[in-house]
Amino acid sequence: MNATSIYQSLTERIGEKIDGHPDVDAVLSSYPSPAPDCWIWQGNAAMLIHHDGKSKRVVRTLFDLIGGEALSDAWIPVRAANCGSRLCINPTHFELKPHNQNRYGMEGPLPPRLRKLDTSELDEIRELIEEWENPDRSTFLANCAAFGFTFSEPALDLAFGGN
Ligand SMILES: [Zn+2]
Repeated sequence: MNATSIYQSLTERIGEKIDGHPDVDAVLSSYPSPAPDCWIWQGNAAMLIHHDGKSKRVVRTLFDLIGGEALSDAWIPVRAANCGSRLCINPTHFELKPHNQNRYGMEGPLPPRLRKLDTSELDEIRELIEEWENPDRSTFLANCAAFGFTFSEPALDLAFGGN
């Protein structure tokens, strides 16, 4: 028996409880690229996962895995209007909203990967790419560093198509 099979990662445990067993790691690592299929949760009705001695919403857990740190209590994942099922836990079918809409503006910053993609940022990157005559990503980043420009990873990923 393979010793590694005894120990399952958290994402493997979650994946086993989703209809069709999608590759959870692949979708988390390419977030916010959309994964169109709903992930129908087949685990407990409360949609909780037990990990590190705590029970937590599965969706929240997935966002913690994407963000690399716990979301502040001010943010909650809210199902997007185009998601087809109340049992779906696909993180790309959720938006992060301030916990209390009346306190909008009071929340702390989101981890960079969870920030909503600013399309004006993407336009800015594309303009620079054109102006600098289609540099590769590392040349582009070197130019940005020289000028003190910074862009988010998701916007860069989209502009460079994952190069
Ligand atoms: Zn869905």
